[in-house]
Amino acid sequence: MSLTGECFCGSISYSIDGTLKDARSCHCSRCRKAFSSQASAYALVEPDEFQWTAGAGLLTNYQSEQGFGLQFCSRCGSTLCGTYKGVVHGITLGCLNENPQIEIGYHIFVGSKASWERLPDTVTKYPEGLPKKS
Ligand SMILES: [Zn+2]
Ligand SMILES: [Zn+2]
Repeated sequence: MSLTGECFCGSISYSIDGTLKDARSCHCSRCRKAFSSQASAYALVEPDEFQWTAGAGLLTNYQSEQGFGLQFCSRCGSTLCGTYKGVVHGITLGCLNENPQIEIGYHIFVGSKASWERLPDTVTKYPEGLPKKS
């Protein structure tokens, strides 16, 4: 499958030749601030299936001490992707142009969600991160 995405102002775009995996939404206080929203919404991508197609020089980065980072458009502020040690490993669902044929599978860190958010009862949710597989 081929997908494309772009930021709000359209300066930066990318394409994905492959399938997105593991779409999730995180409601922790850090994601709320990073995504300026009630939660993050992102999916994993194979690094070699992802490429910038325009405006990569306008990207700006934020990287945590643990090596996890985000890349934004320096013109409009859209958060486009998540990185680990500088390599793109996930994309924000909000910047996709097409239907990715996946849905958010689960909501994590709902135990620390914003007081003003109402989450439907029907979604799969966990108070913290994903439970460890036993
Ligand atoms: Zn932009
Ligand atoms: Zn989070």
